[in-house]
Amino acid sequence: MRHFLGSITDVATMEPVAALTFDDGPHAAYTPRLLDILESHQARATFFMLGQFAIQYPELLRRIAQAGHAIGNHSWDHASFPFITSRQRRAQIRACARAIAPYGQRLFRPPYGEQNLASRLDTLWMRHKVILFNCEVGDWFDPDPHRLAEALVKKVHPGSIVCLHDALRSHPELRPRVRHQSHADREAMLTAVDMFLTRVGSQLRFITIPELLQHGCPQRQHWYRVTPLGPRSSAAPLPSS
Ligand SMILES: [Zn+2]
Repeated sequence: MRHFLGSITDVATMEPVAALTFDDGPHAAYTPRLLDILESHQARATFFMLGQFAIQYPELLRRIAQAGHAIGNHSWDHASFPFITSRQRRAQIRACARAIAPYGQRLFRPPYGEQNLASRLDTLWMRHKVILFNCEVGDWFDPDPHRLAEALVKKVHPGSIVCLHDALRSHPELRPRVRHQSHADREAMLTAVDMFLTRVGSQLRFITIPELLQHGCPQRQHWYRVTPLGPRSSAAPLPSS
């Protein structure tokens, strides 16, 4: 059961490879610029998209897929899965899968990184691999590209799965506060990724999640978490993974 219910956080590998992942897109302005940056560093990435936006940009999806990046499922509209019913969860995954077809793969990243046992069982039922991460640097709230790039240099190692955002969305009913705490402006993230790849590009090769899984042993965790909306949310920004 451990093997089936664990969620993948990273990969144990001796090879100098890691995976950048970008959530909540695609975005009409930021995603194409990110693609240019990745291309200039010959880096590939994985995009965990929201179905409601993916369906609006078929040309962008084609460009992403043709550049060799992978596309995964981040639900239809970023609802937090522990807060909705099993039927709604499966409908969310199905609707996003349709929106990212024919390029999408059966990879799922839970909105906000939030998951409980029931939602994990639904992703298993939908035959999607749950891909979490072992590296994030707060790109959803930190406006300083130098600090973000520095944090990436420190935290990214061979086998890392890095969580970043090419857009930022929150579900208006379930997470009204996140909207005010998050930086929808992605300029700092774009600059930071460019700086980071300039610094580490010669030491690490950035590949897609399906490729990374072929380069070592996937590490799994029983990842069940629901972010409290109480005092913590006013003290520290909520992750919008
Ligand atoms: Zn997200």
